[in-house]
Amino acid sequence: MKIAMVDLHGQYERIREEINNAIQEVLDSTAFINGPQVKTFAQHLAEYNQVEHVIPCANGTDALQIALMALGLQPGDEVIVPVHTYVATAEVIALLRLEPIFVDCVADRFTIDVTKIEEKITSRTKAIVPVHLYGQCADMEPLMDIARRHKLYVVEDTAQAIGATYTFSNGVAQKAGCIGDIGTTSFFPSKNLGCYGDGGALFIRDYELAERARMIANHGQKIKYHHRVVGCNSRLDTLQAAILDVKLKYLDEYSATRNEVAARYDKGLAAVKGIILPQRADNSTHVFHQYTIQVGNHLRDELKSFLAEHDIPSMIYYPIPLHLQEAYAKEGQGKGTFPIAEQLSEEVLSLPIHTEMKMEEQEYIIKQIHAFFNR
Ligand SMILES: *Cc1c(COP(=O)(O)O)cnc(C)c1O
Repeated sequence: MKIAMVDLHGQYERIREEINNAIQEVLDSTAFINGPQVKTFAQHLAEYNQVEHVIPCANGTDALQIALMALGLQPGDEVIVPVHTYVATAEVIALLRLEPIFVDCVADRFTIDVTKIEEKITSRTKAIVPVHLYGQCADMEPLMDIARRHKLYVVEDTAQAIGATYTFSNGVAQKAGCIGDIGTTSFFPSKNLGCYGDGGALFIRDYELAERARMIANHGQKIKYHHRVVGCNSRLDTLQAAILDVKLKYLDEYSATRNEVAARYDKGLAAVKGIILPQRADNSTHVFHQYTIQVGNHLRDELKSFLAEHDIPSMIYYPIPLHLQEAYAKEGQGKGTFPIAEQLSEEVLSLPIHTEMKMEEQEYIIKQIHAFFNR
């Protein structure tokens, strides 16, 4: 038994023929850049998400950068982001000479603490970038309300939550990434909709904004060699688009399987004292990009080592909150500034979860976690 964090090979095996045929078709056409599959996949994803425009690009980090560029943010503008997230979210903000303004998160949901956003808003604040961390939406209803009142843009980092649905109190349900002005996602292989290399996309409802993002992703040109704005070169390969178009059909099935795995962990670990299981928000579905527990009493690293000794991989997303990273350190923002994020960085542990997880693998993991706490 070889337990993996993610089993990309097993997943490929099940759709091998369809994938191979899709790849072969691209090879035969040799339309490696902007082949017809790129447009087809974008259309299919737009239909899936019920959003007007999907703009494919090279990766999820580029998608975030293109989003901020398309919104016309200027150097010195402030952008509010959760402090407990993957570095890419803050990185593109800093790269564009904008100012990332960190906000702590809610412990039971892992996403940005919406009640702490307003106190960070200044006259220079232009946007909020919530991250739908681990597969569950940030609390978008109050967040959108704040954005509307303060006239701020909202860019949703949906790299970990493609396919999740958020339901507003009036009953309106929207896909993650299609609530704010722009949603961004990543098709990195281990993401819920992963390709076989790098890939990303933006979700946009507004036509003008979508055209602008499309132009920026293509060297700032609409007409070849006519560069209206400074852009970048960010494309989704035809090969990756062909692969993604096959996998998109299975996305809901993949999410359902991940939920089954999560439910089995919930049940198997419910009696373990000393850990907190991931909570479900009642206004968001969960696509379980990660199944992340919180381990108290400073036992997290010990549990991780114990599991490793028993051939069980586990991961820490993320071991250092952004405000304590050398690259993002700021005066007056030392240890203690964001207590929840700091606590999470010491307590979170993500267990193996993927679409190919076998019952006996999971039983073994659950058994070993019990064994650790019964030592
Ligand atoms: C993976 C990820 C990204 C970046 O995606 P890449 O395709 O690797 O550039 C951005 N934000 C979050 C939250 C992610 O998990």
